[in-house]
Amino acid sequence: MEDKVLGLHHITAIAGNAQRNLDFYTKVLGLRLVKKTVNFDDPSTFHFYFGDQKGTPGSILTFFPWEGIQHGYNGTGMATSIGYAVPKDSLGFWAERFKRFNVKQEEVIEKFGEPCLIFTDPDGLKLELVVPAEVDKREPWVTREVNASVATRVFHHVTLTLRNATPTATIVTDVMGYWLIKQEGNVYRFKTNNSDNASVIDIIEAPNLARGLGAAGTNHHVAFRVKDETVLMNYREKIEGKGLHITPKIDREYFFSLYFREPGGALFELATNNPGFTVDEPLNELGTNLKLPKQYEAMRKEIEKVLPAIA
Ligand code: ZN
Repeated sequence: MEDKVLGLHHITAIAGNAQRNLDFYTKVLGLRLVKKTVNFDDPSTFHFYFGDQKGTPGSILTFFPWEGIQHGYNGTGMATSIGYAVPKDSLGFWAERFKRFNVKQEEVIEKFGEPCLIFTDPDGLKLELVVPAEVDKREPWVTREVNASVATRVFHHVTLTLRNATPTATIVTDVMGYWLIKQEGNVYRFKTNNSDNASVIDIIEAPNLARGLGAAGTNHHVAFRVKDETVLMNYREKIEGKGLHITPKIDREYFFSLYFREPGGALFELATNNPGFTVDEPLNELGTNLKLPKQYEAMRKEIEKVLPAIA
């Protein structure tokens, strides 16, 4: 199990206004801001990481907020929804809360026998709260308004929408160790037993749906978790063996990564547990300091000047 993919590591999405993004995820949804840093390729832009109380790999939703960026839309060839696990009987609380904060939401439905509340963030990113059949025992981050009886236990699943499910399903099962466990219409549910949580991938097969447009309100990529760099590099070989192009190992400060485009068009990443989010600030200070990648530290003053003001 230690040498396998251990479910999700993080998901990265695109937002517009930084303050609005920060407020929604920390205040409305009640996640912890685990890291406040900048985009490696564009240090005048924030990179926010939201997760659980420990910043556990597997709990992390990250955003690049680009003020004024155009709106994207979901379609084929991308991750189209993110599911968060919540405790039993908490959906009523969330529906009320979303109403209060003018969050767009739908009626509660059942998916694969699990109650599910679909909603969107202020940029239109599609999210779901799911009450899993098996109780999610992860310890939540709690806030004044979102206590432990309702707080999310972070990732439950990610949904991919694809024209043809088969080539992606082959990678997900043969290489990454997931199993097809259920099918409902054109939705296929895959799960890995190598992690107790964040272990589900849903694939919607939509042969006639147009490709999505990646911009504000859409997901950029999905990262899967591995233990360390040795396992990471073993996967590099396996993925190359399937004829897919994959990047060299990249140092992302908080993890080491490989990126590859899965056959259905979505950008996948493999990311290590190490060194983790406490590598540059202690657990109790996570997210409170502006952390810069080493190469930008010398430019801190200039960067702080151009970043949007946030509170
Ligand atoms: Zn990533």
